[in-house]
Amino acid sequence: ENKNLFRSHYTYFDEKLRKKFEMREYVINHFNEAIEKNWIHPYYQQIVRTVTGEVCDAEALARWIDPVRGMISPAEFIEVLEDARLIHLADLHILDCVLADLQKSLDDDLGAIPVSINLSRYDFELCDIVDEIIRRVDRAGVPHELLNMEITESVTGIEEDYVKEQIRRFHEAGFEVWMDDFGSGYSSLHVLQHFDFDVIKFDMAFMKNFNLDDEDQVVLSSLMQMVTRLGIDTVAEGVESRQQIRFLKEIGCDKIQGYYFSKPTSSEDLNHKYKKGDGIPFENPESKDYID
Ligand code: C2E
Ligand code: MG
Ligand code: MG
Ligand code: MG
Repeated sequence: ENKNLFRSHYTYFDEKLRKKFEMREYVINHFNEAIEKNWIHPYYQQIVRTVTGEVCDAEALARWIDPVRGMISPAEFIEVLEDARLIHLADLHILDCVLADLQKSLDDDLGAIPVSINLSRYDFELCDIVDEIIRRVDRAGVPHELLNMEITESVTGIEEDYVKEQIRRFHEAGFEVWMDDFGSGYSSLHVLQHFDFDVIKFDMAFMKNFNLDDEDQVVLSSLMQMVTRLGIDTVAEGVESRQQIRFLKEIGCDKIQGYYFSKPTSSEDLNHKYKKGDGIPFENPESKDYID
């Protein structure tokens, strides 16, 4: 019987691996079509000011809505596109969509809020990403202060002076540069000290492990205090509970983002919610009175 057990185990992994490779192939083969037909486009998730509860920014998160396969998540296609050296084309396409959405809300006078877009470390290697972004934003006539650039610490795997220079160019053009996923993996304090980030986003892992009286809280509050004292703004990601919000408020986290307020949604849904005019475009009806 043991033999059978092993066999079924292997079959399971074979099957998983086979599916993964199959998806990989699908993504690469259909990438051009997905861009042309806007199967790839941004969803938006609001970022909220901790003290007041007002929406202050939004993050653009790529979605691949496939006519055959339905929703394909970033976890399934971002890495594939990075490996295939196509990721810059996806990121610039997302930027174009975001610019179109921003133009619409500027025209509709809905009050456009700044949008963060996610950049891959490979964007910096595959093209002059700063120049590409500036050209597209200017062509769209969107004010530069309406866009923030999110980059993960993995960019520091590229030559340090080169990355610093790109951050400087973003700043010179009037874009904020945010560090994404701080505290995941191999974060170093060196990066905090020597790279000129405007905002640090604390990784969701901090919220996942969240318990009262936990060591994680000591680590989180100390890091948050340090970042704040360095003059950098802070965002907590993956916020799902009122208890977490209370703690984040206590330790002086500037902004929060998470399912507690809303999941990423399409721009149509978002605009619809704004148009209802209640001023609280949150999914969670309780979230408007979270400050207690
Ligand atoms: P990220 O930039 O750190 O984005 C946050 C992720 O956390 C998003 O996953 C979001 O949907 C999810 N999230 C937000 N709030 C909560 C919460 O309260 N609980 C939980 N469990 N999750 C929450 P998503 O959209 O699947 O994106 C995953 C990652 O894929 C992103 O992580 C980012 O690294 C990458 N990505 C997404 N869009 C793009 C893009 O346009 N370009 C590039 N290069 N990468 C992207
Ligand atoms: Mg991000
Ligand atoms: Mg993140
Ligand atoms: Mg600052």
